[in-house]
Amino acid sequence: MADASFRFHGVLHDFLPRQHRGVAFTHACARAASLKNAIEALGVPHTEVGRLTVNGARATLQRIVREGDAVEVFAKGEELGSDPIFLADAHLGGLARFLRMLGFDTLHDHAFADRDIRRLAHEERRIVLSRDRELLKCREIARGCYVHALKAEAQLREVAERYGLAARARPFTRCLRCNFELRPVAKAEIEDALPPKVRETQERFVRCEGCGRIYWPGSHYARMRAALGDLLGA
Ligand SMILES: [Zn+2]
Repeated sequence: MADASFRFHGVLHDFLPRQHRGVAFTHACARAASLKNAIEALGVPHTEVGRLTVNGARATLQRIVREGDAVEVFAKGEELGSDPIFLADAHLGGLARFLRMLGFDTLHDHAFADRDIRRLAHEERRIVLSRDRELLKCREIARGCYVHALKAEAQLREVAERYGLAARARPFTRCLRCNFELRPVAKAEIEDALPPKVRETQERFVRCEGCGRIYWPGSHYARMRAALGDLLGA
């Protein structure tokens, strides 16, 4: 055992019992525990951890905790080179739909088991979105985001803020149903499949490369645009 002091900062408080928030406290760590082990034992998944210091010096999650260490743990701030790609767990269907509306590649299937998520996260280097702390503690999940909110709109705001999505969004470029990209399609090619009212009033169409679904800027589209504009403060 090694007694070390821990202090967590920022949004990480949400993972801690009240008496551990905003203060340094002592925790008895298991023998040869790494910082990852110790921090996760205290309830914080490694995907949420950003800068770490031990006795004032920068440290990594692999460092072994020693007797008397003073550990400071800061929340993760994300810096992205390319556009983020996501994997929303089985419970986050509403959030997945919103992210697709904004054009972000987001895998989601309500039948995904944890082992599927771990495999896909590892193989495709996706950011796993989840409210399951135990899942986010898995080593295969190098990049993840614990979603604090319960409602899809608030969840989208959280994810949008953490990954700077407002500036990267390309609304209505991805199929809400199957996550494939949408491509413009000539009206003449799809005319027969359209309801009469749409055929009379609409000229611009996009089609899903995956499922063949056709989208056009009708009233449904306008409502989605209004909802997303509000969510992103744009
Ligand atoms: Zn589709």
